[in-house]
Amino acid sequence: MSHIISPFRRVEVREHEYHFDSIIHPGSGYCFDADAEGNIVIDPHYHECQTASLDNARAQVAAGTMRERGYVTYTRSYNENALLRCDCRATVELWTHTNECERCHRLYNLSGQSLAPMSQWEPEDVADLFGVGNDDY
Ligand SMILES: [Zn+2]
Repeated sequence: MSHIISPFRRVEVREHEYHFDSIIHPGSGYCFDADAEGNIVIDPHYHECQTASLDNARAQVAAGTMRERGYVTYTRSYNENALLRCDCRATVELWTHTNECERCHRLYNLSGQSLAPMSQWEPEDVADLFGVGNDDY
């Protein structure tokens, strides 16, 4: 029996950055990853490059060509679609009104309810879903 293994959910992520804004070229500058306490976090894979950039940013602040905006926190969010365990045991992501299992070709709606095979659908229903002018699919 098919069933939802992971429900639809809205995911919110908080990200922290530290900014330096150019005074000479508004809209440009430096941006570094930061931790939740506002400390700049240097990525060890890019240590040399990021450290040089940070030194340059601080030198420009001292020279008056850059402004230290400081710590900025962003919240971004995205939808995580529900996942369904199909009768054939494959996983099906429920992202649209008609979702097909890649393994057994069963169809499910966005809520995970099993749909009749498309061969049993009325032709106009198939045209509505997959016909010309339908931007959903
Ligand atoms: Zn299946």
